Order: sequence, then C-alpha cells, then structure tokens
Amino acid sequence: MGCSFQRLENSLGACDTRSPMLVHLGPKGLHCEKGGFHVDPARGVERALITHAHSDHARGGSKEYLCAAPGAGLLAARLGSRARIRGVPYGERIRLGDVIVSFHPAGHVLGSAQIRMESEGEVWVATGDFKRDHDLSCAPFELIPCDTFITEATFGDPSYEWDNPEGVCRSIFDWWEEVRADGATAVLFCYALGKAQRILAELTRFTKRPVLVAPEIERLNYCYREEGVALLPTRDVASCSVESFRGELLVTTPHFFQDRSGSALAGLGRIQTAFASGWAKTGRFGSRTYHRTFALSDHADWPSLLRTVEETGARSVYVLGDSSERLSQTLRKKGVYASRMLPDSERHRGSSCEMTVQGELFGNLSRS
Ligand SMILES: [Zn+2]
Repeated sequence: MGCSFQRLENSLGACDTRSPMLVHLGPKGLHCEKGGFHVDPARGVERALITHAHSDHARGGSKEYLCAAPGAGLLAARLGSRARIRGVPYGERIRLGDVIVSFHPAGHVLGSAQIRMESEGEVWVATGDFKRDHDLSCAPFELIPCDTFITEATFGDPSYEWDNPEGVCRSIFDWWEEVRADGATAVLFCYALGKAQRILAELTRFTKRPVLVAPEIERLNYCYREEGVALLPTRDVASCSVESFRGELLVTTPHFFQDRSGSALAGLGRIQTAFASGWAKTGRFGSRTYHRTFALSDHADWPSLLRTVEETGARSVYVLGDSSERLSQTLRKKGVYASRMLPDSERHRGSSCEMTVQGELFGNLSRS
C-alpha cells in the first residue's frame, strides 16, 4: 500500500474540487473519479455504489446500482423494481475504471458493506455505517487494512459506550414478560430496517412466541428471511383484531401511529411503551417520553470508532457527518492524520471551508 499523505497535503488550503485524492466529497456525495462511480450519492448519478439500504445512503435516480449481494433485496425494496441493481458477493474484486473495488461486511444491517477501493497500490476504505458488536441478523464487521479510512461517526462522542447487546436484548425480553404478566400490551418502537429485525432475531434465543409488527417492518422481514436470517414468527398488526393484543409484543415505528392520527395507540388498550436506539443512552430524540428505553445501536460506539481506526493501520482518516469534529480532533491528538470530510458546497462556504483547512493543518502539525 502506498502513502496518501502527499495527496492530502496537496489539498491543504486549496478547497479544490479537483483534488487528486482517490475519493473526494463532491456535490453529489463521495466521488471516485478514476473509478467512474459515487458511493451513497445524494442525487442520481451514472453508477452508484451503495453501502446499505437505509434511506440516508440509498437514494433513487441513478442509472445503475452496485451493492453487496445479501443487501440487494433490501435495496430493491427501498428503490423499487425498476432500479437496475447488481449484487456483488462479499470479497469479490471487480474492476471499475482504473479502480479495483470490493464489498466487505460492515456489521450494520443485512447486506451492509464497507467499500474497498484500490488504485496504483493505494487502498481506501469507506465504511458506510458500521458496528463491531455481535448481531445475529447480519454478517460481522470485517477489518480491512488500508492507507486511507473514510469513517462514519454517528456516535462520535465519549458518552456513547454500549452495554453488551446480548444483555440488552435479554432486558427487552424480560420487559415483555413483565408487561405480559400485567395483562398489558408491550409496544416497542424502533427503526424499521435493521433494528427491528435484529431484535426479532435476538429474541429467538428466549422464545418462539409470535410478534406483532408494523406493515413496513413485515415487508422488510421478508428480505431477511430470504437471506436465511432466522426471525421470530411475525404477524402484520394491520391485519389483526384489537382484542388479540393483550400480552403481545408489538414492534413498530412511530410513523405507523403518526399516520393514523395517534388513535391506534388508544385502540390497543392498556400499553407499556419502550424505545430501542443508541440515542437512548443519553435521552436524545425524545427517548425520555417512553416507559422504558433500551440503548441498542447498530453503529460503532466511541471506543469502537477509535479501536477500528487503529486496527486498520490507516495513515489518513476522513470523518463524515455532523458528529465528525470530536473524533477527528481526538485522532489528531493521537498523532493520526485526521480531518472532517465536508461537501464541496460547504468547503466553499467561508467559515466551513476554513474549518476544513484548519483540520488538515492541525493534522500536519500533529505528525511533525
Ligand atoms: Zn445506516
């Protein structure tokens, strides 16, 4: 693997969209010009490489999509049957333009992938979303040595350190048992793609009882089962009678109830509500409005972010997202060449551009 340090120095102070870097963040998202593709583009492009099927990574309008093969069904469910999607087996190397590309498990949701890009002996890896924790519903994260690492940092703050996820899932089952013994209905709110199926998979360790789910979750469960992931038996709540809900667990999204003007919750009778998300760790995003919360995340926590950067051996790190500054600062203090990766539009917007340049400057100083 070659060293990309000189290439990064070339971008210092220039705010130049014609950066010689193998990948840069352009107006449509991460762009690899030598390979003729974008990664998780924000708008339609000629060729889109998709890390996973969450809506902030998989968007319509592109002519062609490539993703990891186990995620192709979910991507089709997201984009519709007219999207041209090619699933590539994990680890298979394909040539796109002058770049060798391969998809590797990210451990985030079914079919989630890190994208490895190699050109002229230099290796870049873009993580998409990832986690290092155990998850029965998807392949575990694979560590990919690289020169340059483009990482997410959704939970890029030391206050986010996850408890053992198997223990958290045991707590979810215990909570359901308590609510059931009380003759009420347990309503668990979570994200429809990934979190719901992870919980339905983890609960198979404790019970075989069927679970009620919102229609949008049931639609995605099908994709998981098609890929051989074992879930508890499920029933679409929209096709069940209200009388049958006592003692049941309903896994749903807030949208399902919002779309019904909030009246559906009242129709359930006596309920206990809970919320499963990494945000529950700090009570952000309304998680204090539920009877119980479970801090269960599909993203890397703070220690995992730091550990992963170190284990890749990357000499350069770019951090994506709104929470990127804390991680890039911390890495620079550790002597890693780290910088936030900001869209070109922001880099040219005065203060944001200055912030990016400062980040790269401090990175240089920390290495000297
Ligand atoms: Zn995601």
